[in-house]
Amino acid sequence: MSVAENIARVEQQIEAACREAGRARADVQMMAVSKTQPAERIVEAYAAGVRLFGENRVQEFAVKRDALMAAGIFSGDTAARVHCIGPVQTNKANRAAQIFDGVDSVDSVRVAEHLHRAAAAAGVVLPVLLEIKLSEEASKHGLLPDGPELAELLERAPDWTQLRVRGLMTVPPYFEDAEQARPYFRRLWLLRDALAQRHQKLQFDELSMGMSHDFSVAIAEGATCVRIGTAIFGARAAQPQSTL
Ligand SMILES: *Cc1c(COP(=O)(O)O)cnc(C)c1O
Repeated sequence: MSVAENIARVEQQIEAACREAGRARADVQMMAVSKTQPAERIVEAYAAGVRLFGENRVQEFAVKRDALMAAGIFSGDTAARVHCIGPVQTNKANRAAQIFDGVDSVDSVRVAEHLHRAAAAAGVVLPVLLEIKLSEEASKHGLLPDGPELAELLERAPDWTQLRVRGLMTVPPYFEDAEQARPYFRRLWLLRDALAQRHQKLQFDELSMGMSHDFSVAIAEGATCVRIGTAIFGARAAQPQSTL
């Protein structure tokens, strides 16, 4: 299957999930997760209509970005946007603020502070999401839903003038049966509603959740952005464990 065929199939599934949930298609963004994919595959997805991409490594995207600029995907009315969806190390915050249109994986006050300063230096206002860790898995990043750090972050968010704290993101555990992820998605939805209620100064309405195998369930549970990698680009080669 080509990237364009995969995108068409995923698009149909997103439409079906929206219909079933009684939601408007326009209320759910599709992000194509292009980590590990070469620039040519990203250009293919762009040609098939994708306008939002997710990358999880600052350095990897910095390298691909030149080829993508040359291909023209960041120009004009139909410019693509790219968000960071992986952990940002504080020493990479400056670069991240320069090359990404948003960071969907803020997981500490420290990272938020660095991104705020980095965005000021870059002369941009950066939309960000707070990554929430809903399971015990050691491999998962994120703020604890009931922890003091999430509370502190939201209290301080209005002071970070270069950040727009727009909502929450999560990666639930992997389940063979996507239905088992539903309680995690439900929990993030309820958490966002509670936090939006408590912090009315923020426009706190985004809910980034759902990946290739469970996005339909996430849409039923309120996702405003689904992050799709393998269903669009095929299986990824294993990513080397580096700290880039
Ligand atoms: C890789 C990745 C995805 C995409 O996962 P697929 O299962 O390939 O769709 C989504 N979100 C995050 C944070 C990722 O790292």
